[in-house]
Amino acid sequence: AKEMGGGGRLEIYAAHMHAKVVGRLELQTQLRQALANGEFLLEYQPVVDLESSQVTGVEALVRWQHGDERVLPEGFIGPAEESGLITPLGEWILREACEKVALWRASEWDITLSVNLSVKQVLAPRFVETVAGALADSGLPAEVLTMEVDEEVVLESQGEAVERLAQLRRLGVRLAIDDFGMGYASLAHLRELRVDTIKIDPSFIRDLGTDGTVTLLTHTIIRLGQDLGVQVVAEGIERSEQLEQLRSMGCGYGQGFLVARPMVAEGVEALVGGEAGIPL
Ligand code: C2E
Ligand code: MG
Ligand code: MG
Ligand code: MG
Repeated sequence: AKEMGGGGRLEIYAAHMHAKVVGRLELQTQLRQALANGEFLLEYQPVVDLESSQVTGVEALVRWQHGDERVLPEGFIGPAEESGLITPLGEWILREACEKVALWRASEWDITLSVNLSVKQVLAPRFVETVAGALADSGLPAEVLTMEVDEEVVLESQGEAVERLAQLRRLGVRLAIDDFGMGYASLAHLRELRVDTIKIDPSFIRDLGTDGTVTLLTHTIIRLGQDLGVQVVAEGIERSEQLEQLRSMGCGYGQGFLVARPMVAEGVEALVGGEAGIPL
C-alpha cells in the first residue's frame, strides 16, 4: 500500500471513494429512468466517399438529453456498461437507427448505417437474435448495416465475442474495426475477426502531414486495406490538407467535422434534401 501519512488522509481518501461510488450509483439510476423516459436520442454523422464526395452512409451516435444539457457518450456509456443498461439501451439505439435509415432508403436514398457496439452488448444473451429482430422489424437489409467494434473485442471471453460477431456476419451484417491502430497487435486481430471495414483512429489523422512516422503508418494502413479488400474510413478529418492527403493516399472514405458534424435526423434530411451539399 502507498504511504498515506496517517489516518486523516486515509479517511479523506475513503470519503472521496464513497462519494464516487454514490455518484456512480445515482448516475446509473438516472440512466435507467432516462431510458424509460425517452431521453436518449441519436445523432448521425455522414460518411463520404472521398473520390466522389457523395454521402454513402451515416454513423449513429447516441446522446442523452438531460434537461438543457446534451450529454456525450463518454459521460454515460461506461456506467451503462457497468450496470448492464447498455443491453436495453443498445437495443433501443439499434432499433431507432434501423427504422430511420430504412425510412431514408424508402425515399430513394441509397445509404448505409453504422452502429457502435460495446463488448458487453455482444456478450449479452440473445445478442444475435436482437440484431436479427431489429433488421426484420425495420425491413433494413442486413448488408446495409455495419456494426463497429473496438479491437479489444477480440481479447474478450476466450473468443466468445468473436464467435458472436461471426454469427452476425452470417446474417449478412458487415463488421468494422473502430479506432484501428490504437489497440496492441492490430494486425493480428484482422486475422481473427473478418472485417469489412477498418476505421483509422483520429489520432493518426490529426498528425497527418506533420509527423513523418504517423503519415507513413496511415499510408500503410490504407494500403493494407486495399490489399485485404476491405474499406478504409479515415475518422476525425478536420482540415482540408488532411482530406487532400488522404485522397492522394487512396483512402476510400472519410468522416470528420470538416465533412459534416454529427446531427439529428432532421439535420441529415435537410443536408440531403437541400442543394447545399457537403463542401469538399
Ligand atoms: P467512435 O465510434 O469512434 O465515434 C467517433 C467520435 O468522434 C464521435 O464522438 C464523433 O462525434 C467524434 N468526431 C467525429 N468527427 C470528428 C472530428 O472531426 N474531430 C473530433 N475531435 N471528433 C470527431 P462521440 O459521439 O462523442 O462518441 C464517442 C464514442 O462513444 C464513439 O467513438 C463510440 O465508441 C461511443 N459511442 C457513441 N455512440 C455509441 C452507441 O450508440 N453505442 C455504443 N456502445 N457506443 C457508442
Ligand atoms: Mg464508431
Ligand atoms: Mg470507439
Ligand atoms: Mg472511432
